Amino acid sequence: MLCKNKVTIIGAGMVGSTAAYSLVTNDIVNEIALIDIDKKLVESQVMDIEHAVPFYGYTKVKVGTYKDCSDSKAAIICCGAAQKPGETRLDLVKKNSKIIKEIIPKIFKQNPNIIIVMVANPVDVLTYLSVKMFPKKKKQIMGTGTILDSARFRHLIGGHFNINPRNIHAYIVGEHGDSELPLWSTASVGNMSLNGCKNLLTKDRARIFHQAKNAAYTIIEGKQATYYAIASGIATLIRAILYDKNTVLPVSHLQEGEFGVKDICLSMPAIVGERGIVGKICIKISTQEKKLLKKSSQALKKAAEGII
Ligand code: NAD
Repeated sequence: MLCKNKVTIIGAGMVGSTAAYSLVTNDIVNEIALIDIDKKLVESQVMDIEHAVPFYGYTKVKVGTYKDCSDSKAAIICCGAAQKPGETRLDLVKKNSKIIKEIIPKIFKQNPNIIIVMVANPVDVLTYLSVKMFPKKKKQIMGTGTILDSARFRHLIGGHFNINPRNIHAYIVGEHGDSELPLWSTASVGNMSLNGCKNLLTKDRARIFHQAKNAAYTIIEGKQATYYAIASGIATLIRAILYDKNTVLPVSHLQEGEFGVKDICLSMPAIVGERGIVGKICIKISTQEKKLLKKSSQALKKAAEGII
């Protein structure tokens, strides 16, 4: 069946519904199918979101089934348990890997060409699990990874310099979680490298990274879930896929030795287009960053043990 600019979102909770709303307000898809095991919830989310449509462009929003994947370009996986206050993302691995094992085959059965965008946590482990189930489709499978952490990082660096965060190029990479690391060696404002920048002291760097890394814990403590920023990240990712934008984004994808790390999914900057991960950016990172990346990959491998 011919694919249109349609996406299927699995999980209509806080993240899935806000992602749908963000796609509607950005007017970038023709159709959104929302799937959830909670029928009442998904019906209500669809009604609420479709009532926003007349204020923007035209997007058809409906309650979906897995059949909707057959003419969707991407499936966005937002279902499963979310972190409770004090829980780490890796604590969710057992519950959510069971769900992923069930749903990924259902999606590919409907559409072997679909792009999978994993959002559910622990996002790197679940992306890896999906790649392990369908190794030939490794380029079609990615996780939102550290796009959110990197946005938080850029926001904080922008705040420090009072500069528009869109002009900050800086990544947090590795696990979307506790072992992630900031790439200060490649960070820049405009075209100015932050390497040795006198207006960014060691204590400023430590504070900025600490706040970016721990933002989710702070937000979950206050309002149980994070969803606006990740939904904006999902919309950016979907735009890159649907319109073949070849956008560089720090998404979680299979590592194949590029940075001394292999056979695990984690975030490093990759080029995202219509066919998924269409290229990798081999940036030069410092020896210390390489070491931390290795540690992050080891933490993820440990978390993935026993579920593959
Ligand atoms: P939520 O509890 O609000 O929503 C989860 C939804 O999934 C629920 O509506 C539930 O009914 C549904 N669900 C459960 N099992 C299902 C199944 N088998 N099929 C279909 N639907 C099913 O949670 P949330 O706040 O929306 O978070 C969803 C996931 O996204 C969590 O794992 C959370 O940790 C993750 N998350 C990831 C990021 C990121 O940056 N990657 C950011 C925020 C949240």
